[in-house]
Amino acid sequence: MGMLLDLVDFLQPRLTVVDAVVGMEGDGPTWGRARPVGYLLAGVNPLAVDWVMGRMMGFPAAAVPLFQIAPPPPVEVRGLTLDEARVPDFRLPSPNTLEDGLEGLSWLPRRVKEYLSKELLPRPRVNPKLCIGCARCEESCPQHAIQLHDQTAMVDLNLCIRCWCCNEVCPQGAVELSRSRLGRLLASARG
Ligand code: SF4
Ligand code: SF4
Repeated sequence: MGMLLDLVDFLQPRLTVVDAVVGMEGDGPTWGRARPVGYLLAGVNPLAVDWVMGRMMGFPAAAVPLFQIAPPPPVEVRGLTLDEARVPDFRLPSPNTLEDGLEGLSWLPRRVKEYLSKELLPRPRVNPKLCIGCARCEESCPQHAIQLHDQTAMVDLNLCIRCWCCNEVCPQGAVELSRSRLGRLLASARG
């Protein structure tokens, strides 16, 4: 979070625009659901825009990590009141998707949750036919779970925390995400 604030300080953006015509609620990106919201937000202060967005989604102020280290800026909302802009019944993400596994399973013992999280969340797998050995995934993996062997990336799933950074940074689309059979079953049940 501190890095985000440093970036704002460094870049000094003049205008921040958020396309919230269609939002995502729940445990996105993989477990989230598209939700028509119908708003475009714009503001000169990115923290103010973030704060307004959080309020629209129904986040309690204390639950937003950013505003635990930075006080919310003064905000002037034009056009609507914040209460009018509130998206009804917006489904918030689980407190920590990776630690809690899946929404609704937070009552399980921690060890069971950890096991289920790893089993049910999509796991990265490198397609050797597409990998060109550029090492971007290796460099971006926070767990050092990726190593290159013969110019092909390999993932150690025991170290992997399913953050999917490797999937996002790969320029070749070589990191595929796949679910176990149980994960696929659950995903289809959640629609
Ligand atoms: S980022 Fe993609 S192409 Fe590059 S090494 Fe990793 S898997 Fe291979
Ligand atoms: S999903 Fe995250 S932790 Fe797992 S290999 Fe990819 S970058 Fe590393």
